[in-house]
Amino acid sequence: MKILIIGGVAGGATTAARYRRIDEKAEIIIFEKDNYISYANCGLPYYIGNAIKEKEKLQVQTVEGMSKRYNLDIRIQTEVLSIDEDKKTVTAKNLFTNETYTETYDKLVLSCGAKPIIPNFKGLSEAENVFTLRNIPDTYRIKDYIVNNNLKSALVIGGGFIGIEMAENIRDCGLDVTLVEKSNQVLNQIDFEMAQIVHQELNKHGIKLLLNNGVKSFENKGKTVILEDGTEINSDIIILAIGVTPENTLVKDKNIDLGPKGHLIVDKNFNILSNNKPIEDIYAIGDMIEVVNFVDNSNYAVPLAWGANRQGRLLADIIAGLKIKESKIQGTSALKVFDLVVASTGMNEKTLKMKNIDYEAVHAHRANHASYYPNSSMIDIKILFNKESGKIYGAQAIGQSGTEKRIDVIATVMRLNGTMFDLSDIEICYAPPFSSAKDPVNVLGYIAENLHQNIYKMAYSYEIDEIIKNGGLLIDIRTAAEYESGHVEGAININVDELRDRLDEIKQDKDKPIYLNCRVGFRSYLAIKILYNNGYTNLYNFSGGYSSYEAYKYVVNSNLNK
Ligand code: FAD
Repeated sequence: MKILIIGGVAGGATTAARYRRIDEKAEIIIFEKDNYISYANCGLPYYIGNAIKEKEKLQVQTVEGMSKRYNLDIRIQTEVLSIDEDKKTVTAKNLFTNETYTETYDKLVLSCGAKPIIPNFKGLSEAENVFTLRNIPDTYRIKDYIVNNNLKSALVIGGGFIGIEMAENIRDCGLDVTLVEKSNQVLNQIDFEMAQIVHQELNKHGIKLLLNNGVKSFENKGKTVILEDGTEINSDIIILAIGVTPENTLVKDKNIDLGPKGHLIVDKNFNILSNNKPIEDIYAIGDMIEVVNFVDNSNYAVPLAWGANRQGRLLADIIAGLKIKESKIQGTSALKVFDLVVASTGMNEKTLKMKNIDYEAVHAHRANHASYYPNSSMIDIKILFNKESGKIYGAQAIGQSGTEKRIDVIATVMRLNGTMFDLSDIEICYAPPFSSAKDPVNVLGYIAENLHQNIYKMAYSYEIDEIIKNGGLLIDIRTAAEYESGHVEGAININVDELRDRLDEIKQDKDKPIYLNCRVGFRSYLAIKILYNNGYTNLYNFSGGYSSYEAYKYVVNSNLNK
């Protein structure tokens, strides 16, 4: 067996290592056009921000170490230029010597990854201070530029994973950072009201945010950027991070099935397809392919490391003729944003709406561990599910320690086809420093059970102003002092502890809608039960309470003069 692998990082290196563990005799050649293999792409921003201090730490494996341990023929600085699927050969170029040669294969694995999107902005080609980040050489270029030029200001274009990580790490280098994002929020994987918490955190750490604004052109060799609304931004360095596109150069002129954004379409054995038929012995994995969405079996792309690593292992098993389970992806992810963790899994509300999937959304704000134990902090969680079946579509959480653990638990329940109703039954490790006897995950399950009983419905931050404008009744059931310190305009205040004695203040029929809010949604639930047991039948709990509303209403700081 002779296996050629194009791309020697996440997916490619995993396939090679796994296959060698299965077969001692196979000839395995990895082609990598860069100088490094199996490095930590995900760690690159943290080297720039000095959290990772030594260069060597970025290299998970050296060429020598990996070649020896796994008996591999690793050819760095070697770019594969073309594939001849009829002759089963590839043409490769040694970038040291410029020598070009062909190599035959029995099996060909493409794990070529993705590359940064670089639009044809006016003035971009003359700009001297614009960088993208994909690999180790990019990282060194950015770091050297920052260290050697006494920079004061940076502009990050794009509020996705890499944009946010770069904004934070460049800020950690002491620069004044502005982030421009074309949509109304950063981090597209979460919903707007959750992203508002991130906006607040970015502002708190000195990042100026310009949302709903795109780049129009570059002037003055990149020193000045003109935005679509005419705003001019001067900065010493620019990080262009507006997303990635699949590295499909090797196949894009062939008759290969590609998705709408150029990803290779593969079958369940990772065989690439032509007119929906597998091309024998050519496989693709990682950032360059479309994957199957675990939630609804649709095709989509998730350029994250878990999928590339998982697919690398599965593909080695497939080539070896072993039985595998079909690979599906939930898009589970986590990201550090200064003092916060932003984690998510599955579909968000925007996607569910777009796909016309019937869902219920619940927001909860719960302490990460017993509030009487030092350093407890809130985790803001949103979960999306089907109220009848309990099927979980996705979840998002933002907070400090323990945040990603809750998403990992929910992701696991989803993966094992558990439902919302199973969340109340998950027995989670508990001692005051780690959790509460009712963990936030359990509480989500309790809320789902309550909703399932149809005693009340949910109302959301983004609709409450309109509801009140149209004459709806919102009762804020917090204490008078809490109400005075900030409330939804138009809400009346009846403390939950006085509610039983003040029912006569509710001057409307018992079957007319009443919306209830407290700070996070628990006391309003208690109020709902009081009203329900007094004959009120049309009750709404304000999901996430005033905390969610406050976050939703946050006004971002985009003032460039401050
Ligand atoms: P890659 O790992 O990118 O490897 C592809 C390799 O193929 C490249 O080295 C390329 O040089 C080589 N290649 C391409 N074409 C050819 C050719 N013709 N000939 C020879 N070689 C070729 N994911 C997470 O899950 N969590 C994170 O925190 C995270 N952080 C990230 C931070 C950064 C800055 C970046 C850039 C990515 C991050 N990712 C993260 C994404 C993750 O790194 C990728 O999803 C993963 O590396 C994809 O693996 P892959 O094998 O498909 O491609």
